[in-house]
Order: sequence, then C-alpha cells, then structure tokens
Amino acid sequence: MTQIFAIFGDPVSHSRSPLMHNSVFKHLHFDASYTRVHLKDGSQLRERFLKLGLSGANITVPHKEAAYTACDEIRGFAKKIGIVNTIILEDNKLIGYNTDADGFIFAIEEFKQNFTQTPHVLVIGAGGTAKALAQKLTLENFDVTVLNRSSKSAGFFQQLGIKFSTWDNFLINNKYDLVVNTTSAGLKDDELPAPQEMLEEILDNTTYVADAIYGKLTPFLQLAKSKNITYKDGADMLLGQGVLANELFVRHSLSKEKIFEAMKHSFEI
Ligand code: NDP
Repeated sequence: MTQIFAIFGDPVSHSRSPLMHNSVFKHLHFDASYTRVHLKDGSQLRERFLKLGLSGANITVPHKEAAYTACDEIRGFAKKIGIVNTIILEDNKLIGYNTDADGFIFAIEEFKQNFTQTPHVLVIGAGGTAKALAQKLTLENFDVTVLNRSSKSAGFFQQLGIKFSTWDNFLINNKYDLVVNTTSAGLKDDELPAPQEMLEEILDNTTYVADAIYGKLTPFLQLAKSKNITYKDGADMLLGQGVLANELFVRHSLSKEKIFEAMKHSFEI
C-alpha cells in the first residue's frame, strides 16, 4: 500500500519539502507520496496525523515544539532540545526526531577545512533554529556566541553555558570563523538581523557567513557578498535535514547517497 507523508505548518504553501521527498520516492521507486497540511492549531497535530493515516511527517514553523508534545517517544538530539521536525509512525506510536541541526552541520561541511581549531561561531537570533544550532555546535566543540535583539531567551542559552548578548551589550571579542543568521529578518522584508553598523564590524572579522533562509539573497547575505565573504543560503541546510528525514521515512532501506542525489534534483526545479 502506498505510504503517505506530509509536512505540517502555518504557513505551509511555500514549503519545498513535498518536491524534495517526492523526487526521492519517484526516482528511487519507493511506493509513497508526500503532501502539505495547513495546520493552524498545533495541539491538533497528533489527531490530524492519525486521521490522515500518515506513515511519517515533517513539521515546520510554528509547530515544532507542539510536535515534541504530540509524540509518544522522542529519540536522539530532539530529546535534548525539545524541538521535533520529523515524526515516524512505529507500532502505532508517534516517534519524534530532529534533523535540522545535523542538516546545518552537513551544510557547513565544505567550510570546515578552513576553520580554526576551536571555531568561533556567532549565531544571530535566539528562536527555535538558534536553540538547535547553538546546542549542536557546542556539542561539536565550536565556541558559540548568540546575539539577539531581545533578551527573552537569554536564560535558555546561559544555563547551557552558551554566551548570549543583545544588541545593547554586544562587543566583538574575537574573530569569527562563521556567522549565521537564524532570524526571520529578510524572509518577507528587507531587514537586516542586527543594526548595520554592528553587522559591518562583525563581518569585517568573519571568514564565512550562512543564512538559514533559502531561495533568496537576504540583505544579510547581500552585505556579506559586498564584502567578498564566502556565504551560503539555507538551501543546503534544507537539503541536509531532508535527506536525514527521508532516511527515517524509508526506514533506512535506501542508501543515503542515492537519497541525496535524488533530492538534489528537486532543487533544480
Ligand atoms: P523563530 O520564530 O523561533 O525565531 C525567530 C528569531 O528571529 C527570534 O530570535 C527573533 O527575535 C528574531 N527576529 C525576528 N525578526 C527579526 C528582525 N526583524 N530583526 C532581528 N531579529 C528578528 O523562528 P525559527 O528559528 O523557527 O526560524 C528562523 C528562520 O530560519 C526562518 O526564516 C526559517 O524559515 C529559517 N529556517 C530554515 C531552515 C532550513 O532548512 N533552511 C530550517 C528551519 C528554519 P526575538 O527573540 O527578539 O523575537
């Protein structure tokens, strides 16, 4: 029987996930189909998942924390951060995973060879993506500083031993191997993720730049480009998390390399 997968989000119409996963299913002859579900109320996630008879799902903004609560069991890194972006149905139980952070590690792989021994990373933003990335990077022995416009999430990072600053008290105290924008500034507007003067100084002391936003050159990436800094948008992060989620969907029955190739195709569409 054809297995059905879906992405839940609000909004969800922009999501590339159906193209990505259907490309794998089609090219690798896996009997499954992937669709979108516009879900306004995150507390309805479990009920909708079961009612639709899904074998698995991805979860995007703003339901990743609700997805954590919706699951019967959480595995791997998702347990540490309380944020789930992938759900698998296993023995009638919802099993939650997080593949976003590993997707990002995959995306910066090509930068790694030029990183210093303990790379300094500045994460701009303090939302769900920043929480996942900052923890993952710390576990991978990066020296992480988080910079955000407000201090509402300061405690979260500080209790993990991760340095946290707001725009008001930020001081550059070293050169950065990588600066990554995890804010939504530039997604639907032309805003920079921090005041321009501050960003200019940061970027003058940075080797690489990444943005979680994909499919457009954000004002932040434009600034990096104007300074001739090597940068990348969030497409590789999206691809990385997608490959890892797909491996879970197909229960590791297909090779990761083949999934990667088939999924990469969808980015040419
Ligand atoms: P959240 O809503 O959890 O966090 C957003 C963060 O951005 C907050 O820290 C917020 O600050 C800050 N922020 C929002 N607007 C501005 C602004 N105008 N100027 C400065 N800071 C701002 O979002 P997520 O972490 O879930 O997602 C963030 C971005 O990452 C989105 O654009 C999303 O599309 C992208 N993303 C990409 C992925 C990929 O695979 N490429 C995967 C996941 C996310 P405050 O705390 O003060 O409110």
